[in-house]
Amino acid sequence: MATDERPVGDEYPPETREQLLERAVDYARTVPIDVDPTDLEWEISDRAKRRAGACIYDHGTGRVTVRLTWDAYREFGWEEFTGTIRHELVHAWEFQRFGESGHGERFREKAAAVDAPRHCQAFAAPRLRLVCTDCDWTADRHRASKAVSRPAERRCGSCGSRYRVEHVDSGRTWRTRAGYLVARNRLGDEW
Ligand SMILES: [Zn+2]
Ligand SMILES: [Zn+2]
Repeated sequence: MATDERPVGDEYPPETREQLLERAVDYARTVPIDVDPTDLEWEISDRAKRRAGACIYDHGTGRVTVRLTWDAYREFGWEEFTGTIRHELVHAWEFQRFGESGHGERFREKAAAVDAPRHCQAFAAPRLRLVCTDCDWTADRHRASKAVSRPAERRCGSCGSRYRVEHVDSGRTWRTRAGYLVARNRLGDEW
């Protein structure tokens, strides 16, 4: 067994945004598509709520940026997320070669060649997120469980510190039962 063999795929999935970025760049090099990596930028989006990824083209400089959505990665897991990366690489390939990109016939053929999904993937952003105040532990929640409504009684799942609860859409946060009640009240229908 080769000693320089590196762990890949789901065995060691990226756990931070930096790791995801690194892994995506490495992974992209293994995809058999003629994209110039020196003209490709990569970034992570924390704001996208529906799209798992995006490919942005600067008509002035010709620069292509692949933007990957952190929340989508969290929902899909690495294996499925590689489909998003391949999809965005097909956009990058079209932009670099033709200066435009869509989901037409040319896209469809190239996507099939690299086993990429034809359509941009959507995901559902979680409603709530628990975020440790000391380490980078986070956990997604969809409903107002005790971890959400009584956060002072629970602790971070990794280091045991306090955590805050974030309402993803509004950005509101709280750390106590009282804070939860205020947020819930203010948010009303937007909960
Ligand atoms: Zn697309
Ligand atoms: Zn922690």
